[in-house]
Amino acid sequence: MIMAKKKLEPPTPPYTIQEYEKSPWWKKKTSEILNDKEVKCYVCGRKRWKWLIRAKRWKRMLGFSSHHVRYTNVPHEKEGDVIPVCVCCHRLFHDLLRLESLGGPYIELAEVAKKYFPYERTTYKKGNIKE
Ligand SMILES: [Zn+2]
Ligand SMILES: [Zn+2]
Repeated sequence: MIMAKKKLEPPTPPYTIQEYEKSPWWKKKTSEILNDKEVKCYVCGRKRWKWLIRAKRWKRMLGFSSHHVRYTNVPHEKEGDVIPVCVCCHRLFHDLLRLESLGGPYIELAEVAKKYFPYERTTYKKGNIKE
C-alpha cells in the first residue's frame, strides 16, 4: 500500500462532542475559519485581527472561537453550521441561554440572546444526535 501525503480523517465514532472538538480534524477546520484575515465576530461584528493589533493587552478577551450552531452534520459541517465568534460574545450568549431555565428576567435575556446568537438546542451523545 502506498502511503501518499497523510490525509486528515474525521475521528472514528463514537465520540462525544468534547472529544470531537479536540480532534485534529476539527482543529484544522476551526483554524481555517479563525485565521481568515477578514474574520469577524458573528454577533458583535468585531474584526479579529484589527483588534488584536490595536490592543495587545486585551489579547485574552479578544480571542475568537468557533461556535457550533448545530451538530446535525458533524463531522461534515455545512455552511452556517459553524460561525466565528469572539470570546466575549461566545461566553455571554451561552450563559444567557443556559440561565434561561432559572426563569424571571433570564427568560427575557435569553430571548435577546437568541436574536443575535444562532443556536439549535440539539445534544450530541456519542454519535447520536438527539433533537
Ligand atoms: Zn463578539
Ligand atoms: Zn458555542
